[in-house]
Amino acid sequence: MQQASQRVDGGQPVALSANGVPLLDVRDLTVSFPAGAGSTHIVRGLSYSIARGETLGIVGESGCGKTMTSLALLGLIPANGTIGGEINFGGRNLVSMTQRQQRHIRGREIAMIFQEPMTAMNPVMTVGRQIAEVLVRHEGLSKKEAGKRAVDLLAQVGIPSPARRAEDYPHQLSGGMRQRAMIAMALACRPQLLIADEPTTALDVTIQAQILDLMLTLQDEAQMSIQFISHNLAVVSEVAHSIMVMYAGKAVEYAPAEELFSNPLHPYTQGLIKTLPDPDRQVKRLYVIPGRVVSDISAGCRFARRCPLADDGCRKVEPELVEVAPGHQVACLKVAS
Ligand code: SF4
Repeated sequence: MQQASQRVDGGQPVALSANGVPLLDVRDLTVSFPAGAGSTHIVRGLSYSIARGETLGIVGESGCGKTMTSLALLGLIPANGTIGGEINFGGRNLVSMTQRQQRHIRGREIAMIFQEPMTAMNPVMTVGRQIAEVLVRHEGLSKKEAGKRAVDLLAQVGIPSPARRAEDYPHQLSGGMRQRAMIAMALACRPQLLIADEPTTALDVTIQAQILDLMLTLQDEAQMSIQFISHNLAVVSEVAHSIMVMYAGKAVEYAPAEELFSNPLHPYTQGLIKTLPDPDRQVKRLYVIPGRVVSDISAGCRFARRCPLADDGCRKVEPELVEVAPGHQVACLKVAS
């Protein structure tokens, strides 16, 4: 995919819109929760940006902080959590907004779709009515207008017989149709930013490809930006202009998508790429990165316990993200800047 233009700001690549300002500009984001006498940081000092019409892929295993990053954008972290840093969206810092102001933006300017639509949909309300309610609440449409627009939206996301399907309850739709219906609901208010959290993980490969295609088509039509979260680098590579690899709450590599695949530099990124099936390689079992994500390490590189290159130095000093080529940043002591 084509990469959005970038400038470098304080060591961070910043994707620019046509007017020179990114739609989303996250600076030094932290999300923490009380733990014993102190606190535990789930997201630690994350900085990234997304231009209008651009897709940023965020990749990492479960527990890397991907979903918490998205919930922070929506102001939806659990009540005992604390957000630090800045989330500048369209020139406004969401972190300093009241809950009421955040609610106004949520669903209208920033929308989210999830892996399992049933968690986001009301099981006892028809699909059409759920979409219409969003339009009544956020766009001020009458019930009749909203119902008509809901059917249009179902047609737009490729649901056959949309007027009839609008009368169905979520459980009456297939997995792929439910995901399309959730996309219709998310797009109801024409959001500027869509957060897609593992949107195709529960679907089979053919339906997965159709949903990715649909998202790209809708993005083109509306110049919408997408933050696409997945544990699967192969899926992200289908849609993303740039990719941020997260590990234990931090970005460990951040680069344009093509650059990340042609020149992965962080051992964790290299491991993730190695886990992908390769049709040219005849292997009985796919590669698995040994160990699991552990973030409660007091010093040094968080990946050291799993890294094939780790040495004593890695266990003492935590590497910072540094730019090694234009727009390509890596946090590894063994990668020279
Ligand atoms: S700093 Fe050391 S442990 Fe961490 S990724 Fe680099 S080589 Fe591995």
